[in-house]
Parts: sequence; C-alpha cells; structure tokens
Amino acid sequence: MKPSSFDYAVPRTLDEAVALLNGDPAAKLIAGGQTLGPMLNLRLVQPTLLIDITRIPELTRIEETGDGIVFGACVTHAAFEDGRVPDPAGGALRRVARGIAYRAVRTRGTIGGSLAHADPAADWLSCLAALGAEVIAYDGHGRRTMPVATLMTGVFETAIREGEILEGVRVPRPSKQARFGYYKICRKTGEFAEAIGAVLFDPERGVHRAVAGATEAPPIVIEDAAAFLQEDGDLDAVKARLGEHGLTDPYSLQLHAVALQRAAMEAWL
Ligand SMILES: Cc1cc2nc3c(=O)[nH]c(=O)nc-3n(C[C@H](O)[C@H](O)[C@H](O)COP(=O)(O)OP(=O)(O)OC[C@H]3O[C@@H](n4cnc5c(N)ncnc54)[C@H](O)[C@@H]3O)c2cc1C
Repeated sequence: MKPSSFDYAVPRTLDEAVALLNGDPAAKLIAGGQTLGPMLNLRLVQPTLLIDITRIPELTRIEETGDGIVFGACVTHAAFEDGRVPDPAGGALRRVARGIAYRAVRTRGTIGGSLAHADPAADWLSCLAALGAEVIAYDGHGRRTMPVATLMTGVFETAIREGEILEGVRVPRPSKQARFGYYKICRKTGEFAEAIGAVLFDPERGVHRAVAGATEAPPIVIEDAAAFLQEDGDLDAVKARLGEHGLTDPYSLQLHAVALQRAAMEAWL
C-alpha cells in the first residue's frame, strides 16, 4: 500500500516547525520515519502535511551542562551507538542504543521520535526513566520539562501537548560510583522487548531506582529498589513488588521479574 498524498515541508528553525504544526491540524512531524513510515504506508495515519524536523540545528545539538547533557531530539540511535555523542552515564546509552532494532533503523531512528511515539517496549523510555532524564517540550512561546518517567500516559500516548515539539532530552550525570544495569528479553537480537529491566544504583545521590518496561503500559518506576532487589536474587520479592504495580499475569510477571533481577545483578557486578 502507498501513503495518501501529503505536502512536505523542511523547516530550518524550531519556530518555523512549530508555526507549520499549528497552522494545520492534520500536520505530522517526521524525524527518522522508522515508525511513521510504515504507518503512512498502511494508511494508519493520513496527514495532509509532513514536517521533516531533521534539518533543524537545535534538534541535533549536544549541550553539556555541569550536571548532565542535553541531547537534541533528532540525535539518532546510531550516533549513540558509534560514540559520536558523549555518554554521561558511562557507556549506558551506547549499550542500550546498540540493542535497538538493527543498524538501518538505528541510522535514521531518533531518540526524540522514539520517546514521542511511546511504544511501551521502546528501549529509550525505560533506560532514560531509570537514569532520571527529563524531556524538554517547546510550543513556540516557551519550554517546559517533564520527567521521562511520566512522559508516557498510555500506549502510544504522551503528555506532549498538541502544537508542542519534543525538543530534547536532558540526561543527568550520575556520580562516579553509580552502577547501571539493563536487561532486555526479546526473542531475537534487535527485536522489540518482551520485558525490560533497568536499574540505577547511585548511593551518593540517594538513588536506588528500578524500571520495569515493555509492560504494555507506561514503564513501572520504583524509587526504593534496594528494598526488594537483593544480591541473593529473591525473585519472589521482585514479583511481589511488581504485583503491587498491577502486573498479575504469571508469565508476564516472571519475565519482568527476571529482567529486573538480571539488570540489578549487572549493576552489582
Ligand atoms: C523493524 C523495527 C524494529 C524496531 N525495534 C526497536 C527496538 O528494538 N527498540 C526500540 O526502542 N525501538 C525499535 N524500533 C523503533 C525505532 O527505534 C524508531 O526509530 C523510533 O520508535 C521512532 O523514531 P523515529 O525518529 O524514526 O520517529 P518517526 O517515525 O519519524 O516518528 C514517530 C512518531 O513520533 C513523532 N515525533 C517524532 N519526532 C518528534 C519530536 N521531536 N517531537 C514530537 N513528536 C515527534 C512523529 O510525529 C510520529 O508520530 C524499531 C523500528 C523498526 C522499524
């Protein structure tokens, strides 16, 4: 199938892109097109205007601040994988990027597109929620930030408002002692996850965070992970905690508990 016809615009500034977005209620942003492309072909979406945001310099910028790094929304998965951008989390971003899909998808797919699409199984959602990252949204008048942990409001739904563009992601720099663990369960390398466990232990900053992702809902974020993720690997304690967050199906509970426990073990190693 082919997409229905649409106009195509390539704005060079963020304000131009926001103006185009607000000027047509049936307009859609396109970044890497790795998700939107197939949706257009299947006519699941039929925009009248596609706004290609990949040539906007602000959206590919990297801005180092004292306590973290802001990545423009159009930084690609491949840029993280190749180490072309700095990694405030000691290699965690590079590793997670490497496990997304396969190289052709990573070359074009972007961190902002992945977050905005809000597939529950997306790797960046769980990884960045565990790292305590925030997204920056721009509406032409001002910016607001929100934690990645609360960005996703439902399956394929986010707190990004109509007329807003996800401009970037701010990833805080963990302390030198921080340990990160990530474990993705999928049938074949590069496939979407069936379960994701992501853990950040950073005692210096008082962070013991665990995230269970790919739950067919927004990621489950637990802030006191040290209380139930033990080095001796008591899976029942993990299951009990996930059960409190609404995971009840025995198969799903087992997968997510194992993913979390393995992520925690990796962080302890
Ligand atoms: C075969 C295949 C396997 C995959 N496997 C994985 C996987 O294992 N793990 C994983 O995490 N992902 C996977 N993906 C998804 C991939 O990571 C996509 O790149 C990503 O989800 C979408 O990014 P994109 O830049 O291509 O966005 P696009 O497809 O261009 O856009 C996606 C959506 O986000 C909106 N959007 C894009 N950018 C912005 C922005 N800056 N502000 C607001 N809205 C925006 C668009 O309007 C659209 O609705 C896979 C994709 C494919 C095709």
